[in-house]
Amino acid sequence: MLNAFELQQKLVAAAMPSGHERRCGDVIAELARPFCDEMWYTPTGSLVCHKKGDGKRLMFAAHMDVIGFIVTYVSDEGYVSFTNIGGHNPAALVNTKVVFVNGVRGIIRLRKQPDKVGAPATAVTLRDLYIDIAATNRAEAEAMVNVGDLAMFDTVPQQIGDHCMMSPYCDDLAACCVQLMAMEQTGASKNDLYFVFTVQEELGLKGAITATNCIEPYMGIAIDLCYSGDEPAADMEMPVRVGGGPTVKIKDASVMCSPAVVKHMRAVAEQNDIPYQNEIIIAGGTDTAAMMHNAKGALAGCMSLPGRNIHSPCEIVSLSDMENGARLIAACAMAEL
Ligand SMILES: [Zn+2]
Repeated sequence: MLNAFELQQKLVAAAMPSGHERRCGDVIAELARPFCDEMWYTPTGSLVCHKKGDGKRLMFAAHMDVIGFIVTYVSDEGYVSFTNIGGHNPAALVNTKVVFVNGVRGIIRLRKQPDKVGAPATAVTLRDLYIDIAATNRAEAEAMVNVGDLAMFDTVPQQIGDHCMMSPYCDDLAACCVQLMAMEQTGASKNDLYFVFTVQEELGLKGAITATNCIEPYMGIAIDLCYSGDEPAADMEMPVRVGGGPTVKIKDASVMCSPAVVKHMRAVAEQNDIPYQNEIIIAGGTDTAAMMHNAKGALAGCMSLPGRNIHSPCEIVSLSDMENGARLIAACAMAEL
């Protein structure tokens, strides 16, 4: 049986930023092959895993792209300027270790240090940051990295606490793991099932939009992360906590989930004794919106894994939430529509 933490280790090792997902897709395809009848990549690059059924088309979507960095300039001194791929908090990036796809390592530094220790922090923008790869001049640096090269967080998954992992790219590779685990658990179903690993979610849901137009689902359920109400930096008071079970999303900044899907997911969870939490978040969006307003329109909802420190090199999610999430997605895949 697939193991949540081991899957995360495999996917993080293959992770690539938005637009370059094929390396991760090929690892996922090998893992997913025994659990579906056919699979293919859409022209945009999303991996579609089809488990045939005579009933209504049900689409699940977890995005396999991750946030990252791309080199924009190398200075005479050998320092590397970059811009973002996906959403980053520039202030939180200072002194973050990164690794380029070719294995070169570096650290993100702030161009202008505060005048004195303890001085109030001023707003940091991406232009205030650069990557130090320990080169001493441009030629030395360009022998290692060049404009257009991609970098990612240089951290690895670790198990911490009672039931959690701390890992880069839980968003959304932990959800990809959940989708794989759910595929393994999905037995006979009347539904015509499409488990999709989408691309470029972090750049505007490109993979989900195009995959939805191909599949034209009756119902779509995204699998992603949501903020958790149990950390001091929480955006708002909310009842969601890490370890309390996967969530059934009601609303986020981009979508009001279809009431019929919310009701269906809750009923399936209750029938199968799966703990769940009710999610409303005020920032962020997911592939849910893409599934709802593309093709001919679909009923759409989302299941989230509560996460702390999202979009950082050390996101925290609960392995037990992942296990319960896989149970809920599998149960939804098998439930009559
Ligand atoms: Zn995400």
